[in-house]
Amino acid sequence: MGAALIPIWIGLGSNQGDSPAHLQSALAGLAGLAVGRVARSPLYRSAPVGPQDQADFFNAVARFDTVLSPHALLDRLQSLEQARGRVRARRWGPRTLDLDILLYGMQRLDDVRLKIPHPELSRRLFVLRPMADLDPLLRIPGHGMLADLLTVCPPLRLDPVPWSGAEPPPHI
Ligand code: ATP
Ligand code: CA
Ligand code: CA
Repeated sequence: MGAALIPIWIGLGSNQGDSPAHLQSALAGLAGLAVGRVARSPLYRSAPVGPQDQADFFNAVARFDTVLSPHALLDRLQSLEQARGRVRARRWGPRTLDLDILLYGMQRLDDVRLKIPHPELSRRLFVLRPMADLDPLLRIPGHGMLADLLTVCPPLRLDPVPWSGAEPPPHI
């Protein structure tokens, strides 16, 4: 019998350097952790949450199946962040790449290193909206239906950005 396939959701964010390029690279990295294909949401741009003296954020979510444990998955995500030059400075400050585990199947987890579902998920439109784009009927463990969370989430202006248009222009 093979290892169980767990459907997972990852939140991707960037607001430093060439953010769309960081996110594209992260998607390629996530493909290396997946069994089968990685589904990506639309890409959104929004004003920063937390300190306001920083650039706009680019956000998306990805969904795929994995055989990795939650902690092994976090290790791999942190390696991908480091590969894009992430430096941990102030909390919620600028970052080249942020990869959060939003959901790990229907499991709930709460230890010093990992909290799943992601504790801020229900308050972040830049996470809920792209999740709903991929699966409007999703249920979030401990929170109920995604569609209901969307109706009570604090408002945030989210501008869709085409993934294709977000790629850096080719060198001439
Ligand atoms: P936020 O968690 O509010 O989105 P952040 O992403 O900026 O903030 P980080 O500095 O990237 O926070 O991560 C801090 C720590 O959060 C990580 O070292 C990790 O151990 C922990 N963590 C807890 N739950 C999760 C999760 N579901 N996904 C990713 N990291 C998590
Ligand atoms: Ca985060
Ligand atoms: Ca994070």
